[in-house]
Amino acid sequence: MPAQCEFKLWYISQTIIRGKRNISKGKVLMTKKVKFKNISKSTFYATVRKRVDTHFIDNKLSIHANGAMWFKTLFFLVGLVSLYLLLLLGNFSFPAMTLLAVLLGAFGAFVGFNVCHDAIHKAYSANAKVNATFSFIFNLIGASPYVWNICHNVVHHTYTNIAGHDEDIDVAPGLIRFSDAETVNKVQRYQHYYAFLLYSFAMLSWVFRKDYKKFFQKKIGEHVTSHPRIEYFNLFFYKAIYYFLFIALPLLVMNVTWWQFMIGFLVMQFAQGLVLGLVFQLAHVVEGTSFPLPDTNGDIEEAWAVHQLATTANFAGDSLLAGFLCGGLNRQIEHHLFPKICHIHYPAIGAIVKQTAAEFNLPYIESPTFGAALVSHYKMLRKLGKETYIENRYINRPVPVLVLAIK
Ligand SMILES: [Zn+2]
Repeated sequence: MPAQCEFKLWYISQTIIRGKRNISKGKVLMTKKVKFKNISKSTFYATVRKRVDTHFIDNKLSIHANGAMWFKTLFFLVGLVSLYLLLLLGNFSFPAMTLLAVLLGAFGAFVGFNVCHDAIHKAYSANAKVNATFSFIFNLIGASPYVWNICHNVVHHTYTNIAGHDEDIDVAPGLIRFSDAETVNKVQRYQHYYAFLLYSFAMLSWVFRKDYKKFFQKKIGEHVTSHPRIEYFNLFFYKAIYYFLFIALPLLVMNVTWWQFMIGFLVMQFAQGLVLGLVFQLAHVVEGTSFPLPDTNGDIEEAWAVHQLATTANFAGDSLLAGFLCGGLNRQIEHHLFPKICHIHYPAIGAIVKQTAAEFNLPYIESPTFGAALVSHYKMLRKLGKETYIENRYINRPVPVLVLAIK
């Protein structure tokens, strides 16, 4: 028998850490710049790009907007302006106004998906002025095109689903857990129920908080931000115009009480937020999508295009309605591989991408319908929240273990 036994509490990390990380408040902050290494020497991207190029050359097509794209642009912009004017000047009953507010919110999201998203990617037109004009409209639906360009085009499209880089998977820290690289907490056991409610707040946060927060962050992901002076002015000026159009002017012109206005305004924001949140999350957080972490050198051992296939999913790819409303965001695989091609062409190039992925034995993750993708997202939320908590509640955090020390 040992002369003296002592139990000590030691803290050990619960998980094998592949990358050099700092863990703070449930967030994993990557400390290195990520590089994509083509270790398998995959020629997938070169092949699919060549085939897609050939499709456009052989059919004498432009990669930019065609007649159908201009038609839907007109449809959504006229719809947005008409709904706004009906609400402002229509003097309808309160229930009718509430319904119009829901539609206005939904149309705000549809204009973002169908018009501004393509324009900010410079995919809408070969003419820079056309892209700039449609990008500007983003301000009028409550969001800064300048901040979006950094967060979405530069960071999200490059570092898709990489914790600490892609801030799209960092939607409500502590409340929503989208990545295996994060810690899990008690509340997140129920995230498959309340996540959808939180998505409704996405637009309200975007209008009043997110753009300012991202703009004044030193880094977005690991992208160091340094803004031209004019962008400081633009941020505040165009936000002020939005607040004027959607708060001050309605209060001055509409024949409603302040609380009726508040209900209408919030209903509009919730509708826009829910549509945005659902469409965004169904692209990257469904069964089958992965959340890769870089190794100690900061390398992702996959070619960039292969990484996009592993982290991105389509839904309702054959649905004309989903294509019309979602602006190609239901075909995110094609969008992530070819962001400079206007979304109107995604159904046509989808078959090429799917066929090439199959030839290279690569994943092509898709749900047949919006409903199926929604169920898949729900299951993923439950897996990342409740199931992870039951299996290993100390995941990614140091845990106390009892050590017998013999003296
Ligand atoms: Zn995009």
